[in-house]
Amino acid sequence: MNHLIPPLSPTNRWWSEETTAVVTGANKGIGFAVVKRLLELGLTVVLTARNAENGSQAAESLRRIGFGNVHFCCLDISDPSSIAAFASWFGRNLGILDILVNNAAVSFNAVGENLIKEPETIIKTNFYGAKLLTEALLPLFRRSVSVSRILNMSSRLGTLNKLRSPSIRRILESEDLTNEQIDATLTQFLQDVKSGTWEKQGWPENWPDYAISKLALNAYSRVLARRYDGKKLSVNCLCPGFTRTSMTGGQGTHTADEAAAIVAKLVLLPPEKLATGKFYICVESKKLISKL
Ligand code: NDP
Repeated sequence: MNHLIPPLSPTNRWWSEETTAVVTGANKGIGFAVVKRLLELGLTVVLTARNAENGSQAAESLRRIGFGNVHFCCLDISDPSSIAAFASWFGRNLGILDILVNNAAVSFNAVGENLIKEPETIIKTNFYGAKLLTEALLPLFRRSVSVSRILNMSSRLGTLNKLRSPSIRRILESEDLTNEQIDATLTQFLQDVKSGTWEKQGWPENWPDYAISKLALNAYSRVLARRYDGKKLSVNCLCPGFTRTSMTGGQGTHTADEAAAIVAKLVLLPPEKLATGKFYICVESKKLISKL
């Protein structure tokens, strides 16, 4: 059933500047806007980026306008050694994590183009990058006082109804879905791409490799949500809607700041209103509905 998410209200503010958030791919686009919004709301935020110069400049631009609680650390989510170094840096410098926004992603298609260009890179970044980082940071979540939160930035291109293959869909929508089945699905997709049969096999048609990476991310989020159900860690996905960033070549129905306002609203929901295992879609730039 769809439902509306209530607005942020000062009366149910559960966070403080002791509350820590990590945002990946935050040197620009929606990630940068999310860091800024969370700083405005008074949290301590770690801005991460794969390019050290771009990331430190982005953090510096926020310090210049008065946000002292921003930290920067380099993080390339497609590189397991970078993830390990980041987890260790975070443990030493901040220690306890409340909110993780897995935002970093790549696509090599322009809007309206549906080619498969670098499927391995897309899957390694958008899916395995977010998953490996999450697993590395899991021991650092506070999981007391309030519910800790993971928000995976996803896309409606990766929802199950975009799969034209009933057999693959049946596997991914199963209540007993496992991580091994998700891995096997991705391996199958890459094999079908190599053998030139992917179109016949019923994989998504729009931004196919990107859509598969997000489909896997949505599936993993449900598996993880189930694993932590009742254990003070909520895991959700959000499609921010068509947003004007580099990924869309500047096209979109709304700005990164508008998308970031929605992200903040979702990750700061009071514990009693916070669901888990949901896929949220941002509609009309201000409204948020949940599906699944
Ligand atoms: P942008 O292309 O503007 O930003 C993507 C960010 O991810 C950049 O900071 C980029 O860094 C970073 N990134 C890419 N690869 C890596 C990596 N290996 N390690 C660390 N960082 C990396 O995209 P958006 O802001 O539009 O997208 C943000 C999220 O929202 C993504 O998950 C996207 O899939 C999702 N989304 C966006 C939509 C839109 O309409 N814009 C619609 C639906 C979903 P660099 O600058 O170095 O390239």
